[in-house]
Amino acid sequence: MFIKHARNEKIEAMSHVAASLAHEVRNPLTAVKGFLTLMSRNPHDPHKTEQYIRISLDEIQRTESILSEYLAITKPFTERRERVDLSEQLQAVYNVMTPYATMYNVELILRDAEPEPAPGSFHVLANPDEIKQLLVNFVKNAVEACSDTHGGRVILKLKAEEKSVKLLIKDNGAGMSEEQIKRLGSIYFSTKSNGTGLGLTYSYQVIHAIGGQISVSSNPLAGTAFIITLPAAGKGESG
Ligand code: ADP
Ligand code: MG
Repeated sequence: MFIKHARNEKIEAMSHVAASLAHEVRNPLTAVKGFLTLMSRNPHDPHKTEQYIRISLDEIQRTESILSEYLAITKPFTERRERVDLSEQLQAVYNVMTPYATMYNVELILRDAEPEPAPGSFHVLANPDEIKQLLVNFVKNAVEACSDTHGGRVILKLKAEEKSVKLLIKDNGAGMSEEQIKRLGSIYFSTKSNGTGLGLTYSYQVIHAIGGQISVSSNPLAGTAFIITLPAAGKGESG
């Protein structure tokens, strides 16, 4: 009885995911189809053709990101964990996300970690790909929150404590209401016209799966600060 109930719930959740995935992918597909039709009707207008190709490529790019977000969320969290240097991962994500921030006129700042990095002090036991993806999700949201802010900036900072590693992601963007803060991490919650509401659901699941915690303080006038606390791997132990 209990098992049957759990299965039904799973099927229900799956059909929900399938329905919204179909919906999200259909829109860009319809757009691309429309542009290809237009191009086949006017094959000799180079200006229009260039414009249609550009929009179609944007739509395909969007479809790709939607699909990877959905794949990430349906993929079970890997049991295999290894030592991951959070300062290395953060540096990599900083490098990857800097052009994205620049596109939004947002300054992305990576502060020096505290204390001075000693071997192993920023190590956690996790899956490196999952860590990278969750860092990207937080930084992406912070940048997007600053898109209407004059002088928008996002600060990233790591701090090692005896038993944990803390990461601060702080922005001076749009901030959130109490109601929005409560809904963070729940599936499909998004306030963006083109959002999926999956980024934080995934990130929260990864953080909880490795025994971490998230705290957030936010104010619609001042911006948002997330602090992610992950258990430190310790200096000697191996994953
Ligand atoms: P998406 O980015 O597709 O909307 P996410 O799961 O990444 O989905 O985020 C969910 C929602 O949480 C966002 O739509 C936004 O309302 C809110 N949010 C997340 N991070 C921030 C932030 N740094 N500042 C303001 N709002 C945020
Ligand atoms: Mg997001």
